[in-house]
Amino acid sequence: MEVSSLKKLEQMEFSLDSVTDLSSSSVSSSSPAVATFSCVDGVTELRFLQSDPTLCFNFDLASAQLFKLGPVHFICVSDSSSSSEEKSFSQGVNIKFKNDKDSKDFCDSFEEWKKDAVVQGSSVQNGTVSTKKSKFDNKIEASSAKMYFRYYGQLLHQQNMLQDYVRTGTYYAAVMENRSDFAGRVVVDVGAGSGILSMFAAQAGAKHVYAVEASEMAEYARKLIAGNPLFAERITVIKGKVEDIELPEKADILISEPMGTLLVNERMLESYVIARDRFMSPKGKMFPTVGRIHMAPFSDEFLFIEMANKALFWQQQNYYGVDLTPLYGSAHQGYFSQPVVDAFDPRVLVAPPMFHMIDFTQMKEEDFYEIDIPLKFTASMCTRLHGLACWFDVLFDGSTVQRWLTTAPGAPTTHWYQIRCVLSQPLYVMAGQEITGRLHLIAHSAQSYTIDLTLSAKMWGPGASQGGILQSSTCKFDLKEPYYRMSQPQAYPVAQEPSLQLQPELNTQDIQTQNDELEEELLQQLPQNPSTQL
Ligand code: SAH
Repeated sequence: MEVSSLKKLEQMEFSLDSVTDLSSSSVSSSSPAVATFSCVDGVTELRFLQSDPTLCFNFDLASAQLFKLGPVHFICVSDSSSSSEEKSFSQGVNIKFKNDKDSKDFCDSFEEWKKDAVVQGSSVQNGTVSTKKSKFDNKIEASSAKMYFRYYGQLLHQQNMLQDYVRTGTYYAAVMENRSDFAGRVVVDVGAGSGILSMFAAQAGAKHVYAVEASEMAEYARKLIAGNPLFAERITVIKGKVEDIELPEKADILISEPMGTLLVNERMLESYVIARDRFMSPKGKMFPTVGRIHMAPFSDEFLFIEMANKALFWQQQNYYGVDLTPLYGSAHQGYFSQPVVDAFDPRVLVAPPMFHMIDFTQMKEEDFYEIDIPLKFTASMCTRLHGLACWFDVLFDGSTVQRWLTTAPGAPTTHWYQIRCVLSQPLYVMAGQEITGRLHLIAHSAQSYTIDLTLSAKMWGPGASQGGILQSSTCKFDLKEPYYRMSQPQAYPVAQEPSLQLQPELNTQDIQTQNDELEEELLQQLPQNPSTQL
């Protein structure tokens, strides 16, 4: 454990020219002052002492920050005084040194002692919680995080994921086919949920698995694992965020299921790469290893009309005597800002798809803040184009077998389904025509993304000889607010294994399910050969 390897720093003293309380209006003290660093009862402190005891200040180094204002002049501030009764205010002092050397030595020591203070934190069973404010809390709104972890803290939502047999079965196969990557190894399960992937790793012979889970689900995982004595001894559940907790040893392999809709929704991939940097040994493996976002333009008149019709409600001029039309434009825009989540027939695609690769072993956390994907397709038919269809897959790059988990249209449906960004202004394309554009994803603090989509195609007709007039269509979407369309009648028979596809309770997550009549209707519509692939 990191804590035991901390070097013991001796108490250190520095003489100062002056120390002044930032919150008081008094002028600098002229009496000699000293600054001391020390560790008392596990708290690393910086103290400024003067002959007048009322002018002494204590800082907890875990939250203290030093700002250099000049060669010998600094201010030091912290969340609150470690000794003060009043914990809700920050405290700060103005400090001056006698010369450059004293100033530099103090600065270096401050950095050394600060590192020590941050790593220590409070010890908990099986790990240590750092006192540093976590990366997660800095970038994610507290209200979003609260709802997110409340959702995952409920067994029903974990059950929905476990009942996505394409998902869970592919993880199981990827682990068991690559036992050599797990046998005798230290594993970290990033966002363990019910602990299922930890138990797969244990089944594959892992030496020890650290199952890290931030939500209340950690308690259920403990219970489930305890009830499986074959694995229990080799799994330690740690309740906390991967950004905050400490582990006693480095991992040979990380396993995780951090994918959201469009791969990146929920922003958990950032936690996955933070866990990589914090816990994985340099030659470690990641399961999954890479992910790809696939994209293709689509044409779907039914869907377009359905979306446009929703806003028609606001066209009424006499709704109980009220004219609703002033809000028609906003309602229309609102509906077209919702990405549509459903399973569609791959025949709606009007050009061969392209993909954008994300290498989990290389991506930096910050690389996920903004993802810019230039688009280029060649239309394979003459049609009206309604937007961009997207799905993803991830690769388990095992030493024995490489296995893909795909959410592609036409492949067995997963609880992620596929996603479509519908443009409020369709484009007209001819077979062979080039379609260009841009998919720009910008992360926001509610654990999702704003999507800017532009698609363009050169028009024939006037101006064609000068390179053509570009018809362009742009829309903004909020990935956090999708339109789950699974409860609506599907215009297409979904080409896949009937037994899996048509038992909604088996593989739907937080999406309403189709009703029985529709199920029957779809069964009758299913084509003879259910293996249509892209
Ligand atoms: N591994 C489980 C659960 C996957 S869902 C399975 O495959 O069935 C993702 C889980 O990660 C959720 O339970 C969520 O609470 C957890 N999680 C998300 N972000 C986390 C973080 N930063 N630290 C720890 N757990 C996190």
